[in-house]
Amino acid sequence: MYDYDLLVVGSANADLVIGVERRPGAGETVLGSDLAVHPGGKGANQAVAAARLGARTALLARVGDDDHGRLLLDSQRAAGVDTAGVLAGGAPTGVALITVDPSGDNSIVVSPGANGRLTPADVRAATGLVHASEVVSAQLEIPLETVVEVVRTLAPGSRFVLNPSPPRELPREVLDACDPLIVNEHEAKVILGTSEAGEGPEDWARRLLAEGPRSVVVTLGAEGALVASAQGVARVPSVRVDAVDTTGAGDAFTAALAWRLGTGATLAEAAAYAARVGAAAVTKAGAQESYPTAREVEAL
Ligand code: ADP
Repeated sequence: MYDYDLLVVGSANADLVIGVERRPGAGETVLGSDLAVHPGGKGANQAVAAARLGARTALLARVGDDDHGRLLLDSQRAAGVDTAGVLAGGAPTGVALITVDPSGDNSIVVSPGANGRLTPADVRAATGLVHASEVVSAQLEIPLETVVEVVRTLAPGSRFVLNPSPPRELPREVLDACDPLIVNEHEAKVILGTSEAGEGPEDWARRLLAEGPRSVVVTLGAEGALVASAQGVARVPSVRVDAVDTTGAGDAFTAALAWRLGTGATLAEAAAYAARVGAAAVTKAGAQESYPTAREVEAL
């Protein structure tokens, strides 16, 4: 029996958002709206999404010893995430500086800050937490060597889920551990390195599977997702909703899928549930603020 259904190892950022009439060019200053500060970062988002659905969730991350770090801890605790594994100090909390224009296009500068200081030694020191978790998920907003250490620390029998975002080439050791590797179209193309003319998501899924993962999921926004494993490739239908804001939908999808896999669902079943969670998340503004409870998913 595990203490946690899901351990998320990943980033926690403060998203600092300003609305502007026009995004500034080089050397230019523009006036914008009041500043809005939201808890974000892929790791923090995934942990909140899973906990809101009812998963016993823990987060292994690093924030600064500052107000942004406290904001992130508060939002995790409010969602019911166990934050004993959230380390503080070493650098300021990670920040995303986001300007959004009226058409919704944005420009983002990320300062990884403390996320970049989550080290392999931090993972080794948290071995007990890793071993107490049925499923462990990670993304790539923390150092790659830290993700490699997560893979090496996994207890036999636990399950590793990776969303390689932002995408980069991955060592075979990490690819082999993924069950599944979860990518959107952009991430699939970067990891495969090439996209041949006429190739579609099913081809990417098959080619990614051949690189080592035990299973692969390709998310396709409003088109739903594809799941691929030794059993073959299957399409997961999307749920039709009026999309308001797709921010953080992929994080909610990944968290929901990881949690359901731990409860014994098949990959196709878990992805179908995750698609409902992702769809619910796009019906509201924001990332963490948009994540549904299990009851809201059922009502969809
Ligand atoms: P990412 O945010 O990583 O690019 P996607 O945009 O593919 O990920 O979204 C993840 C999942 O959320 C999709 O596979 C789908 O199930 C769901 N989703 C996203 N956008 C929509 C939408 N407009 N309508 C319904 N479901 C959506």
